[in-house]
Amino acid sequence: MRLLLVEDDGMVGESVRTGLRREGFTVDWVKDGVAAELAAANDDYALILLDLGLPRKDGIEVLKALRRKGGHVPILILTARDAVPDRVLGLNSGADDYLVKPFDLHELFARVHALLRRQAGRADPLVTFADVVLNPIAHQVTRGDRDIDLSATEFALLEALLERPGAILSRSQLEQRLYGWNEEVESNSVEAHVSRLRKKIGADLIGTVAGGGLPHGEARMISIRRTLLVSLLIGVLIVGVALSAGVYFFAREEIGEVFDYHLKQLALSLRDHAFPEAQS
Ligand code: CA
Repeated sequence: MRLLLVEDDGMVGESVRTGLRREGFTVDWVKDGVAAELAAANDDYALILLDLGLPRKDGIEVLKALRRKGGHVPILILTARDAVPDRVLGLNSGADDYLVKPFDLHELFARVHALLRRQAGRADPLVTFADVVLNPIAHQVTRGDRDIDLSATEFALLEALLERPGAILSRSQLEQRLYGWNEEVESNSVEAHVSRLRKKIGADLIGTVAGGGLPHGEARMISIRRTLLVSLLIGVLIVGVALSAGVYFFAREEIGEVFDYHLKQLALSLRDHAFPEAQS
């Protein structure tokens, strides 16, 4: 899951980012209100952690602007402003939760997990699908009574797939979820992770969950075949239209000539009737 951290304090930001990464999250970190708005507009985040005292634009203004634009992303305020009117203002401006500094990282993680499962429409901390159980907090996956050992990326991938079973996710959507700004994305890395996940957890389940939308070779072949077929149909259509137009103009010319010929014959016969003496 990819989170946006908005925090101008270097030490707080570093410890929150490190902690969240250790929890398996991908974290992008910005240090002022304007950069926060830009990042939120350009990338798809599962959650935003928002400080209030920020350079360039106050956190409350950032929050209001994001909500005015209609964004549904959960927003958790992290601030030193601990007065009750500040908390009320934060929540009433569209924040989903409010945590006062200094805070314990474990409490922060628990609140992040709570917001994420509410956002996914779940109350149960465990994600279940068929006989697979995924625990986002303990980072464990079981299928039946078998423990499945997944890398952090494979875990994040499975979590993304189980969140909306059957949804068609494109490669770029998956890359957005899995990689932050500073991470190099190899061109075939999503495919490689998907293929390892299929081996570890069972291709039958990944096929069902992914709704045929995974960027693996088979899906790509189908899409190439579909593109070729559409191109062929368009080609046939263009040739058909060109041929019809040619035939139409040719026929019009021919008919015109025939018509002219008959008109001429008619004129000649009229002349012959009217002036029989003019016949040679
Ligand atoms: Ca601050």
